[in-house]
Amino acid sequence: MAERAIQAVHIVGAGPAGLAAALTVARAGGRAIVHEQRPDVGGRFHGDLQGIENWTTHGDALDELEALGVARSFEHQSYREGVFYDPEGREYVYRSPDPLFYLVRRGRESGTLDQGLKRQAVAAGVELRFRDPVRRLPNGGIVAGGPRGPDGIVVGYVFETHRADGVFVALSDDLAPKGYCYLLVSRGRGTVAACLFADFHREKMYTDRMLAFFREKAGLSMSNAMRFGGTGNVLLPATARHGNILFAGEAAGFQDALWGFGMRLAMLSGHLAARAILEGTPETYDRLWRSRLGGQLKASIVNRYAFSRMGDRGYVRLMSSIARARNAREWLRHHYAASPWKRFVFALTGRAAASRRPPPGCALSNCDCTWCRSHPPPTATRRASSIGPPAGDAPAA
Ligand SMILES: Cc1cc2nc3c(=O)[nH]c(=O)nc-3n(C[C@H](O)[C@H](O)[C@H](O)COP(=O)(O)OP(=O)(O)OC[C@H]3O[C@@H](n4cnc5c(N)ncnc54)[C@H](O)[C@@H]3O)c2cc1C
Repeated sequence: MAERAIQAVHIVGAGPAGLAAALTVARAGGRAIVHEQRPDVGGRFHGDLQGIENWTTHGDALDELEALGVARSFEHQSYREGVFYDPEGREYVYRSPDPLFYLVRRGRESGTLDQGLKRQAVAAGVELRFRDPVRRLPNGGIVAGGPRGPDGIVVGYVFETHRADGVFVALSDDLAPKGYCYLLVSRGRGTVAACLFADFHREKMYTDRMLAFFREKAGLSMSNAMRFGGTGNVLLPATARHGNILFAGEAAGFQDALWGFGMRLAMLSGHLAARAILEGTPETYDRLWRSRLGGQLKASIVNRYAFSRMGDRGYVRLMSSIARARNAREWLRHHYAASPWKRFVFALTGRAAASRRPPPGCALSNCDCTWCRSHPPPTATRRASSIGPPAGDAPAA
């Protein structure tokens, strides 16, 4: 890339998107300043295990990130198989010769992806400013401040366990309506969670059902369990640029709409935003992210639209179809690939499948569920937007 002499690049948020952007700037010889409102990285997470998906490209996800300047030196564990359960409790084992995903831990403690990226950033000379909430970027920069509102919620437990390592996923509207449940175990640490895309207020009931299910089917045993909850935001913006302010990661809405995989998209978009700024052409950012991420994001919105209409019988058909494939990674890659018919369906349904807004009255109720707690009151929404939202809040057709 043809770098020019540049001013310091200001980046809001020290999550994967912000730190990948900072690494790109620093590795190109620029000065990256990351403003993080919390006292350390990873404050949004709780030591929970998450997977970096490795099926949306032919090439390997960690190879791609490494080529962009994010070294694989963070702790991770690759998984080539996972056990899936359909709504009847039938078991399917999906395998691939190459890793399906890389499990990482998220949070403030050592060994997490967040601490691993921070270590790389410090070594590369990135300036990290903690306890430094930023509401305005008068000279432009990158906003990577995470989700702006919930489209789905994740509720569950992180725990210690003697159970063997493994990945277990269940699809059933009785356990997680329009979503899924997962149990992840890696090196004595576990995460069990329900990812809900509907009926958010009854999260407690779904959590209890999910625990009972995984105890029976997958031998879940937990000690020192700690409850956690989180939200995710999905939006295909018409633009992720507001003048010379570029939005990356979940702040732009970049997240897989079907399952909520966001880490890889966050790091890729952070890198692309930094590249556009380094080249002195922030206006090219929309073209860059559309070309690398746009097709996949549209396909994921179409996939979510279809999935949310399937119901339990549809899940059974879907799971049987993956089971028939010899290579689950290839099946998933096709499923996530852009195609003319997905573009067509997107044009018809994209708006309907776009980011949810809270049901009327929800944010104002006294409900204590994760969904209600994560809705910023109207004043906070206005305050956050002073940094400039991605212009045009509608999905691009
Ligand atoms: C429970 C849960 C499970 C998940 N599981 C997976 C998974 O298995 N696989 C996957 O790929 N993805 C998963 N995701 C999604 C993934 O974690 C996110 O997409 C990813 O972390 C987004 O990275 P980001 O850098 O955009 O935002 P974040 O990681 O949210 O980082 C944003 C940072 O910006 C800071 N910030 C915000 N506003 C300001 C401000 N004004 N000033 C300064 N700092 C600010 C925040 O404190 C935060 O540190 C999961 C999400 C949740 C909640």
